[in-house]
Amino acid sequence: MGKSKLMLFDLDGTLYLNGVLFPGVIELLEKLRGAGLRYAFLTNNSSIGPTDYYHKLKDLGLPLTPEDVFTSCEASSLMLKTMGIGPEIYVLGTDKFRQFMQSEGFVHSYENAQALLVGFDTELDYRKLTEATRLVLRGLPLYASHPDPICPVDLPDAGLLLAYFKAAKPGTIVQGIAGKPHRWIIELIEKRFQVHRSQIIMVGDRVNTDMRFAVNFGMCSMLVLNGNAQPELGDVKPDYIVPHINQLLDQFWPDNLAW
Ligand SMILES: [Mg+2]
Repeated sequence: MGKSKLMLFDLDGTLYLNGVLFPGVIELLEKLRGAGLRYAFLTNNSSIGPTDYYHKLKDLGLPLTPEDVFTSCEASSLMLKTMGIGPEIYVLGTDKFRQFMQSEGFVHSYENAQALLVGFDTELDYRKLTEATRLVLRGLPLYASHPDPICPVDLPDAGLLLAYFKAAKPGTIVQGIAGKPHRWIIELIEKRFQVHRSQIIMVGDRVNTDMRFAVNFGMCSMLVLNGNAQPELGDVKPDYIVPHINQLLDQFWPDNLAW
């Protein structure tokens, strides 16, 4: 096999939708494994941590190990630690995201928070929104696990909250974003798998996160449409555009493309 060593898959919209796998996904992973090409899974979703994601994928029938999974939760921890933020932070996120950050040494606090970290909060309520708003009005630095405004299937996501906070206090700047298309996850992946970014094939369904992430860091980029119309590409030019994920089994199979 060519220079590629790792196939990196986005999850939502790429391998499944609404919790249902697209046809051919398990066969594809088994074929990759048989060919000796490693694969890993990457999601910007920060509503559950990597261990929960591992179990979720296992339950779907995907062949994987816990170390094959990356989420924007780990990226958030690495970003804040590298930037010297914390340990007291306000985590606007689910209980699972708060627990994950706690397991990484952060302390969720309203009174003593040094920064606000915004995640995909599927448990958002008025009290949390009020607390976070007050912290922004107080001028606390704002960070996010990822930038997506809407996640499949039309659920309001972290990026919409960032827009809300910018409206709450004009001039508010987001100081750091952890997930795709930013650099933190790629550093985790390179370290864990001992690969260079140029040896990674990034497979995803979103132009502004998955494909921009691949292009930003010199990975091979593969956009899968899975039945959707081709989205606006703008300045992002994917190396390959694949109508359905199961076509990676044949005409878009890495050997066929001489990777
Ligand atoms: Mg996706």
